[in-house]
Amino acid sequence: MTTPLVEMDGDEMTRILWKMIKEELILPYVDLKTEYYDLGLKKRDETDDRITVEAAHAALRLGVAVKCATITPNADRVREYGLKQMWKSPNGTIRAIMDGTVFRCPIVVRGIEPNVRTWKKPITIARHAYGDIYKNTEIVVPGPGKAELVFTGADGTQIRELIQEMDGPGILQGWHNLDRSIESFARSCFEYALDAGQDIWFASKDTISKKYDARFREIFERIFREEYEERFEKAKIRYFYTLIDDAVARVMKSEGGFIWACKNYDGDVMSDMLSSAFGSLAMMTSVLVNPDGKYEYEAAHGTVQRHYYRYLKGEETSTNSVATIFAWSGALKKRAQLDGLKDLERYADALGHATLRTIEEGEMTGDLALITSLASVRKCTSSEFIAAVRKRLEEELNGI
Ligand code: NAP
Ligand code: MG
Repeated sequence: MTTPLVEMDGDEMTRILWKMIKEELILPYVDLKTEYYDLGLKKRDETDDRITVEAAHAALRLGVAVKCATITPNADRVREYGLKQMWKSPNGTIRAIMDGTVFRCPIVVRGIEPNVRTWKKPITIARHAYGDIYKNTEIVVPGPGKAELVFTGADGTQIRELIQEMDGPGILQGWHNLDRSIESFARSCFEYALDAGQDIWFASKDTISKKYDARFREIFERIFREEYEERFEKAKIRYFYTLIDDAVARVMKSEGGFIWACKNYDGDVMSDMLSSAFGSLAMMTSVLVNPDGKYEYEAAHGTVQRHYYRYLKGEETSTNSVATIFAWSGALKKRAQLDGLKDLERYADALGHATLRTIEEGEMTGDLALITSLASVRKCTSSEFIAAVRKRLEEELNGI
């Protein structure tokens, strides 16, 4: 390695897996260089969460980060860890600093069949992570009256629109988004599509929302035309816009193998639909891509708290490490490509293959053993699974 990876350690069961993955699958084979940030809750509390901010800036500086799942504190966690305060979600903090789009992609493997028969290849969701319903303002209307939408410009000029003459009690909601944020969403999507060599779809409801959703469509179209059209032609991929309901129908009949860009709420709903239909949350990777092409890789699942408490009692767990292994292999591969390190790229590919082959050859953790279509399987503990991957990784690396 030449440039270090930004390594963001985390919490609970995934922290245990993190150490096992490094010791068994990475350190014996890679002269690993990382800039290490401990985002474990204890360290975040000790540093008044400065460690999270530093880690995010390091990701911007070095360009590629790999992150372990972390606890987002709630009232229970404040008590459990004796926290100074209820620190914000590390992912939220990192996203706010890096400014990007979250891409979630299922790991498809023989033996874990999608519920949708036509899906042969993974479908990646690209979710816009700013505004709309997540930053709304609401009013419970007590009785009859006039509802208006008012914008007061910096120079005092007002724009006013009637929403409704309300003849009784009801509800009201205001949303916003920013051109700047939509533009960076569009660029992140187009960059990711070029990187993955896949088509990208974007859908909204601009037939009904002729200004709001239409703005999204227009910004995507303009940025595509001005900055990406030629690159897409060369890469033989395409950008496709349609209405959200049409997109849903097409997704269900598709073979997969494309990226589906969604507005914030659509992305929230559709990513859970896709991950469950593809098999398991533990088989979903997640990568944050910022508009300048900086990457942060992680698993889509959380810290698997219930398994951790069993682990603390000395019980064996069967926790699936696949998404965390793929976060590492994805980050190492990206680093290798940026730095032109062929050996490291081959290693990262071998790690991915070895992991998939382990499952396809019938060795898997309990969550997958429950849903697999394979006839004979061995249900592995957390460490047995990693050892089984290591055996195949040795074979793959010897074959190179
Ligand atoms: P979780 O870690 O996603 O796990 C929920 C349940 O899903 C587990 O109890 C387990 O089911 C199953 N599961 C998830 N990942 C699995 C894996 N790798 N292998 C096997 N089974 C898996 O969510 P949680 O336990 O509700 O949340 C724990 C903490 O994670 C919370 O503090 C939350 O803030 C945090 N979180 C972090 C992130 C992140 O950093 N990206 C994302 C989400 C949540 P069974 O118990 O039935 O086996
Ligand atoms: Mg959700």
